Amino acid sequence: MEVSQKVLELPPSVTLALNAKAVALQNEGKKVLNLTAGQLPFKPHNNFVEEIQAQLSFLKSFQYSPAGGFSELSKKILESFSSSRGIDFGCDDLCEESFSSVISNGGKHSLYNIFGSMLNPGDEVILMAPYWLTYPAMVNMWEGKSKVVHSHLYNNFEPEISDIEKQINSKTKVIVINSPNNPTGVHYSSDWMKDFAELMLKYPHVNIISDEIYYELYYYDPKPTYFYQFAPSLLKRTVVLDGISKTMASTGLRIGHIIAPENFCKAVAKLQGQTTSGPNSLIQRAMEYFDWTKKDEFLTPVRDHLRTNAQLVQEKLRKAGLDTSWYQTRSAFYYLVDFSKMPFFTELRKKSEKEDFASLICETILDQIGVALVPTTDFGMPNCARMSLVLDHSIFEVALDKLIDFFIQGKV
Ligand code: PLP
Repeated sequence: MEVSQKVLELPPSVTLALNAKAVALQNEGKKVLNLTAGQLPFKPHNNFVEEIQAQLSFLKSFQYSPAGGFSELSKKILESFSSSRGIDFGCDDLCEESFSSVISNGGKHSLYNIFGSMLNPGDEVILMAPYWLTYPAMVNMWEGKSKVVHSHLYNNFEPEISDIEKQINSKTKVIVINSPNNPTGVHYSSDWMKDFAELMLKYPHVNIISDEIYYELYYYDPKPTYFYQFAPSLLKRTVVLDGISKTMASTGLRIGHIIAPENFCKAVAKLQGQTTSGPNSLIQRAMEYFDWTKKDEFLTPVRDHLRTNAQLVQEKLRKAGLDTSWYQTRSAFYYLVDFSKMPFFTELRKKSEKEDFASLICETILDQIGVALVPTTDFGMPNCARMSLVLDHSIFEVALDKLIDFFIQGKV
């Protein structure tokens, strides 16, 4: 059967390809240490699980919710956003605009709706590399055009504001920022956010998508801040993306949401109404009745866990003299490993003219030492891999020791 050009052009998922290989090796009886996970290996807070069970008793939990989600939950999301980010929607800058929230089937679905409700064919979208690989794929699906601004390890992966400005033109529709960031595990500093706010004030035709799905997963202070906290009027052209996948360890429950001006939310709800309808009613209701102040009880040990594993990576890279791959992570659950300055890389360069060896290196690592990493080519970052920090400390340390050994004396 013939498949549409659009789907043919979708990039295949590298993570899935690598996972398939990891599973094949496991089936052959080989031990694989999997550092590809983009989710916490824990169950969510007990009270949330109990709330899901309690809501099973109600008919409403099994029926359609409004297309944009239950209004009670939307209200709670808006209030929680306002108190956690310190935003007063009634302030002079914002009081003439109404804001709302739309709940969707996961953060990825929210993003699909955002681009669908914002982009006309040919509109330009500025992405900061490394970026979550789904952004350019979705921009393509909605016939937008991605423009990429690169960031670097020596800057702790904070893109230069002047580089962003160079990409802005009359076709620029939106800039996507993702702090805390997948795949680097950094969040941008307050100084960066202030500068970014100033830049955005200069270009009133440009919108902003702020992907804050890892907002609460920081393990070093200061916690993440955002440009709109320095210039609240920017919220009038900002869509904030968040959800329960990461911070409530609920990737499989598929709930994401946006916060945006009301007219935009109406457009998103309209699109959603003709595609998926409202998201899972049972989980929405459990979220409504769950006490969100309990989230911190769940997150404190998670933050400790991530901090310990991040420290392990840093100590071991330093001890091995791999300082050129060292940088300070603070949030989310990833570390970006830069292969390009490692001893084996020089040999690789001599053998081939290719620009990017990330997949080859990750496959070799998996074959030779049984550790699975995600090559970050599709994240806009060649010759690097994403390492997940979520595994149990003792297993994580075993994987790390094998990796460091490979980094120092391995051959590709
Ligand atoms: N944004 C970023 C940066 C992510 O890494 C992810 C998931 O990996 C999402 C959004 C969407 O998460 P989900 O669709 O699982 O809610």
